[in-house]
Amino acid sequence: MTHQKQSRAGIARRLLRPLRRDILMLLKELISVNTVAIPPEGQETPGQCVLRNFLQSRGIRVELYVTAFVRESGHRLARLDRHYEGRKNLIARLAGSGRGKSLLLNGHIDTVPPANGRWRYPPWRPAVKNGRVYGLGAFDMKGGLCAQVAAFCALKAPGIRLGGDLLFESVVDEEWGGGGGTLAGRLRGDSADACVISEGTQLEIFRATRGGFVLDLSITAGDTANYFSKEEVVGPASHLVRLLEWVENWRGIRARVQGTGPYAGFADAAPVQLLAVQAGRISSDVPLSVPVEAAVRVYFQFLPGEDVAVLKKEILDSLAKLPASDPFFRTHPIDCRTLFDPPLVGHELAEDHPWMKQMVSAAADVTARSPIVTAAPYPCDAFILQREFGIPTLLFGPAGGGAHNVDEYVDFESVMITAETLVTAALEWCSG
Ligand SMILES: [Zn+2]
Repeated sequence: MTHQKQSRAGIARRLLRPLRRDILMLLKELISVNTVAIPPEGQETPGQCVLRNFLQSRGIRVELYVTAFVRESGHRLARLDRHYEGRKNLIARLAGSGRGKSLLLNGHIDTVPPANGRWRYPPWRPAVKNGRVYGLGAFDMKGGLCAQVAAFCALKAPGIRLGGDLLFESVVDEEWGGGGGTLAGRLRGDSADACVISEGTQLEIFRATRGGFVLDLSITAGDTANYFSKEEVVGPASHLVRLLEWVENWRGIRARVQGTGPYAGFADAAPVQLLAVQAGRISSDVPLSVPVEAAVRVYFQFLPGEDVAVLKKEILDSLAKLPASDPFFRTHPIDCRTLFDPPLVGHELAEDHPWMKQMVSAAADVTARSPIVTAAPYPCDAFILQREFGIPTLLFGPAGGGAHNVDEYVDFESVMITAETLVTAALEWCSG
């Protein structure tokens, strides 16, 4: 650790200390605003307005722009089945002197809908308990966005002049494999020499992300008018077994895939996860009856080096073979829908890339120990930034838990540590 680097982490801490209370208030306000996206729609804009007001009150110029042009762009990653009317991205730029590398802080403002189950802390009523801030999106990823806002505001301080530009963008349509907001930013022309996405990473550095896609498979059979009948009552539920066997077979195949690089230590590097199994419902308000619909939802994830198009074809081809071995599927075809198509692909940033080294060194300076460098157990927008638009991208963000589940929370101290690390890294990366 050089004396100079120590002083950068020290500067970061000093710049951020006065912001701490306001950032906590901002996080609570952001959580209290519903920014749920449910394809094809999303209601992110009220959250973007909260961010805009916060940044503007600190003299930062902010732009909100509509993202509807993504659909008309003709870009192959644009999801034509989504609606973008009224959904706005936010961008702020801190101009450097022009003699240094630029940096993009990227985060998404949309959240998934609240998970079913009993929320001890209601989704949109933020609660602070033992240093944790609870609420929907606290960890995924309003906490990370607040860390980026804190870093941006800190670097706006008088006397600080970066060499390269610092950009902060809060995008829409990341959940559900959208990517529309991040794509809009790139198509609009906002670019940088490096990017950090502050998804929750437990203060670890994720230098790779997975790809993935979700399949909804459903079968329909039977006759609601003739459940009470002398004829054989046909139902789809028992045939779900064949679909589950098909999933299980793929799970076995994919479980043998060895992770490489940052995925080397992962017990299940390329998971196949059964997300939902559905047929009828066990409840006192549901009459005894054979259901006419049965469905499964399955999530395939892919490693950064895998050919996702080939894998997708193999998966769908094997599904198409099911009717050959089971006559039921010949008379009752499987309806197969992809939740997002084309699938997401993974990305990987080389361990010795200058941006990686910069973040490792910044994290070490802030916490006085070597950070864990690993890979994300999920897909995200990183591949759009790095593979489609050539912006070296890594993930670094706060600690927390409960993403996509009840009682989601972020550890507030880790939000501020994330901000300190981002400031420390930016001071050096963007220096002349
Ligand atoms: Zn997220």
